[in-house]
Amino acid sequence: MKGLLEIYNTLLNAYGQRHWWPAKTPFEMMLGAILTQNTTWMNVEKAIRNFGELLSPEFISSISNDELAQLIRPSGYYNQKAIKLKAFTQWFERYSYDVEKAIQMNGQFLRTELLAVKGVGCETADSILLYALNKPFFVVDTYTKRILYRLGYDLPNTYDGLRLKIEESIPSDIYLYGEFHALFVEHGKRHCKKTPSCQACPVDAVCKKRIFV
Ligand code: SF4
Repeated sequence: MKGLLEIYNTLLNAYGQRHWWPAKTPFEMMLGAILTQNTTWMNVEKAIRNFGELLSPEFISSISNDELAQLIRPSGYYNQKAIKLKAFTQWFERYSYDVEKAIQMNGQFLRTELLAVKGVGCETADSILLYALNKPFFVVDTYTKRILYRLGYDLPNTYDGLRLKIEESIPSDIYLYGEFHALFVEHGKRHCKKTPSCQACPVDAVCKKRIFV
């Protein structure tokens, strides 16, 4: 994917560093990656706030599914998400709830494990791997696909196909991956929305789908 790094630099100049992921601890980050499925980040924050000082894998594993569902109610689909959080916490127990222990494992091995956890798909797994476990997996989401398509790239039709194509095109670097994904999200929210707002778009000069006004 020629020119991807230039796109990154242009978005970075336009929006500045995003300092993602917005979480106080790696565990909060991992939890947020599951809670954010099918909802806004504002709702995730409300759900996380409900834990107060109690947010920990030990606490989540000690309460019932119903109690957990009530705490995360603001994030929507709370009964399903409670089951997912329980399953995720069970996986994390393999590493004694210690992020540093998990980080020592091979990235591909961790990805295979995470994808076997109920409710963890590719995007969630790669978010956790990149932002909490420091493994270089590029996170592909709706914004990424929409923006790259509009910019004129020929996109593979599978998640991993696109992820690998992006990873082949830019240096393998967790900082770069983390910022680039966050910049795609920012650009998708500010300009490249469902109906794009192309006026003053920072990458309009190289865009194939620009709407002229
Ligand atoms: S010019 Fe429009 S369609 Fe192209 S990237 Fe910018 S906002 Fe999206």
